[in-house]
Amino acid sequence: MKKVLLVTGGSRGIGAAIARLAARDGYAVCISYLRNREAADAVVGEIAKAGGKAIAVAADVSAEGDVMRLFKYVDDAYGPVTALVNNAGILEGQSRVEHMDAARLTRIFATNVIGSFLCAREAVRRMSTKNGGAGGAIVNISSAAARLGSPGEYVDYAASKGAIDTLTTGLAKEVAAEGIRVNAVRPGIIYTDIHASGGEPNRVERLKESVPMKRGGQADEVARAVVWLLSEEASYSTGAFIDVSGGR
Ligand code: NAP
Repeated sequence: MKKVLLVTGGSRGIGAAIARLAARDGYAVCISYLRNREAADAVVGEIAKAGGKAIAVAADVSAEGDVMRLFKYVDDAYGPVTALVNNAGILEGQSRVEHMDAARLTRIFATNVIGSFLCAREAVRRMSTKNGGAGGAIVNISSAAARLGSPGEYVDYAASKGAIDTLTTGLAKEVAAEGIRVNAVRPGIIYTDIHASGGEPNRVERLKESVPMKRGGQADEVARAVVWLLSEEASYSTGAFIDVSGGR
């Protein structure tokens, strides 16, 4: 079967690592990004250089029209998706809940939660055997924050990842008999740019001693769990969660 993967937010960090690994595993890969075209083009270039297939599309996952256009683009380029990784996610400056306004909360939930729902919806429309599809696999990128709550840093972000966990559990059961597996990976503290978005680029260094393994994780270590869950090796796993968090 032809393997077509969409990784949202694939231009940098964990999404880029997933795209590179999946391309090596034979997927035709589409990465989406928000605005960093240069980074997206670099990932596509690396994959092509290694003999893989990849395209990049600018699309805001929180905008329904963009998501519709994104999936249509993949349909036209490679055929309907057989795999989706809901990876695009954001956090904002470290803050206590008492200082969070509605605009911030709306941004966090729009990208992290609504974006994942919209992409999952478009994927199910294409994958479900009920709709004439051939089945498929979805992996949602949650976070250890969903379990830990991120007090004093970003409880809003952690709560959005709690919603992702519930989406995973509910959707997995909803489409289990329609050929679609839905699982989640919960990364811990991983070396990517996301910590700079929270105002602390060196956050991993500050916190690594609190991790039972005493180190931060690499994006590739997360990618391996994701690509395994997408694969037929995980054929009886749905509604499952893999923590890639060094024991945190
Ligand atoms: P990152 O380095 O900040 O990269 C974020 C990616 O998402 C970029 O490709 C960005 O595109 C894209 N993006 C942001 N908003 C978007 C939107 N509205 N629509 C489409 N794409 C959007 O993040 P990361 O650390 O790799 O995180 C990836 C996922 O892992 C997120 O869901 C995050 O919550 C989760 N996670 C990360 C960690 C960690 O420690 N790093 C831990 C737990 C969970 P541009 O390049 O165009 O900006």
